[in-house]
Amino acid sequence: SEFKNFHLSNDILKAIEKLGYINPSPVQEKVIPFVLENRDIIVKSQTGSGKTAAFSIPICNEIEIEETNPQVLVLTPTRELAVQIKEEISNIGRFKRIRCAAIYGKQPMEVQKRELKQRVHVVVGTPGRTMDHIERKTLNLEKVKYLVIDEADEMLNMGFIDQVESIIKVVPKKRVTMLFSATMSEKIEDLCDRYIRNAEKIDI
Ligand code: AMP
Repeated sequence: SEFKNFHLSNDILKAIEKLGYINPSPVQEKVIPFVLENRDIIVKSQTGSGKTAAFSIPICNEIEIEETNPQVLVLTPTRELAVQIKEEISNIGRFKRIRCAAIYGKQPMEVQKRELKQRVHVVVGTPGRTMDHIERKTLNLEKVKYLVIDEADEMLNMGFIDQVESIIKVVPKKRVTMLFSATMSEKIEDLCDRYIRNAEKIDI
């Protein structure tokens, strides 16, 4: 498939093939090479564009499987999206045995605490619940190397801006940051100026 041109490892290519993805979508064409080069990116793109795989493919390719603390944090506005992203990451990382946890409100903390205690490579969370786990010290972000801010406009519309900012501040400064948004507002530009300087801007 055309995904071969990205020099991904065989276990990732095999998983992409199993998902039935033949050609990269436009957002994947642009995003995958930048992430593989550890560049920060700010991406304007709609849902349905294949943006989840656009960040999940290169991140799964780069994950160090022996590391026991989370290396990746994905922030997303809703439980539904958190579950969908977890599925996509688990599918792409299946042959590499990548483990992913989703944390969101309205599910008992205990269930999630147990999940986080086992080793997971990726955590996908809604901002409120993620902050909750950080405050209770049930989520260790010291090893996070990739931060994905998904559907930034939705998270701001839902009033999660303060939580998103608090979480960004807890994640190590030496990291790769990716922000995805269907629309770009002044508030999002502000957030980008403060935390994602020198990013590559991609408009699909
Ligand atoms: P998303 O924009 O991430 O919500 O993805 C929209 C849908 O496109 C999902 O159902 C994916 O499984 C699918 N998809 C993502 N990448 C590809 C691809 N390269 N080829 C075919 N389908 C894809």
